[in-house]
Amino acid sequence: MTEKLFRDLTTLRVGGPIADYRRPTTRAELIDTFRDVSSGRRPWFVLGGGSNIVVSDEEFDGTVIHVATTGIESRENGAKVLVTAQAGESWDHLVAWAVENKLSGIEALSGIPGTVGAAPIQNIGAYGAEFADTFVLLQFVDAGSGEVVTLGPDDLRFGYRTSALKEGRSGLVVSVTLALTKADDSEPIRYGQLATALGVDIGDTVALVDVRRTVLELRASKGMVLSDDPDSVSVGSFFTNPIVSDELSRRLPLDAPRFPLEGERAPVVVPLGADHDFAGFDGNAPDVKLSAAWLIERAGVPRGYSLPGNNAGVSSKHTLALINRGGATAREVIELARYISIRVHDTFGIMLTPEPSFIGFD
Ligand SMILES: Cc1cc2nc3c(=O)[nH]c(=O)nc-3n(C[C@H](O)[C@H](O)[C@H](O)COP(=O)(O)OP(=O)(O)OC[C@H]3O[C@@H](n4cnc5c(N)ncnc54)[C@H](O)[C@@H]3O)c2cc1C
Repeated sequence: MTEKLFRDLTTLRVGGPIADYRRPTTRAELIDTFRDVSSGRRPWFVLGGGSNIVVSDEEFDGTVIHVATTGIESRENGAKVLVTAQAGESWDHLVAWAVENKLSGIEALSGIPGTVGAAPIQNIGAYGAEFADTFVLLQFVDAGSGEVVTLGPDDLRFGYRTSALKEGRSGLVVSVTLALTKADDSEPIRYGQLATALGVDIGDTVALVDVRRTVLELRASKGMVLSDDPDSVSVGSFFTNPIVSDELSRRLPLDAPRFPLEGERAPVVVPLGADHDFAGFDGNAPDVKLSAAWLIERAGVPRGYSLPGNNAGVSSKHTLALINRGGATAREVIELARYISIRVHDTFGIMLTPEPSFIGFD
């Protein structure tokens, strides 16, 4: 049997050999394999499309379960349609299926690489939508007990690019159920750049197919769909957008993009001489999301940047994506990521958080 290498199974194309590789294709086989492997003493790892992981160059001395179950089923539930997809199904195939079947809710998440089973892990999101918006439940095998349990939104504690599954609850996602809406048109457009590209206003709705096509075009222009574009040999965004206090955000240069996390408070107009009770004002301004891409560029790391003698680089289309320019090792990727983090920290005092999971590093 030929040796399996992580670098052939990941979109960043780095990572060493795998000691024990399994690829279950049915639900029963997947669950059995997971129970068997996770109850043993050797390390194990659940792999989807390999589009959000950075894997060490050393051998992975354990078992990799490559999830390859497929299938989409649906049933009507009033105005909604409950759609259940198996974990190994391609996420973008599910989105294309929904659009074709005139079901709205996930069209803005077109073109995100990877599998359905990984989508809840970091609550995938793009263009004003996120996985959590349509999520109903998922079937999960807990690593400790081996039991199949059903988890809902309260169990998953979704946040910006995170969930309870990313924060430590260890196990296997077997299938995912979403509630989509029967409609020819999309959910209201929530993202300025997408509205502009569609020629509509924020809050408008347009044909599902138009949203999908436009999102795919926008993503391709940034190297954010998997293709033969060398800028797509990445994990997508390498860093999340930092969330900082309002006070810290005000210390940044005036042109730094800032996105308050709750709506700004409406101004209270008090007529002169009138008494006013400011009940409910807690004095805390909402936290602010910053643009990691802007911070990186302004810290002096431009698009297309690379360190001398290092085969990793910054995408020529987007400073947030680190790419493998050809033959890069995981070490080189980490070296570049560290360099960028240090520059941003030295310039702005803000520590960037990486988005992907790191496998096989101490
Ligand atoms: C070009 C490009 C663009 C991207 N754009 C976006 C974007 O716009 N928005 C966004 O949110 N992300 C984006 N990503 C990141 C990535 O596509 C998503 O995080 C995706 O959900 C990862 O899926 P995967 O199947 O490849 O997961 P993998 O990389 O295989 O695994 C990621 C993590 O999920 C775990 N996992 C995978 N499957 C299961 C399962 N069945 N059960 C339990 N754990 C599991 C793994 O153990 C690992 O910890 C992009 C990536 C690329 C390469």
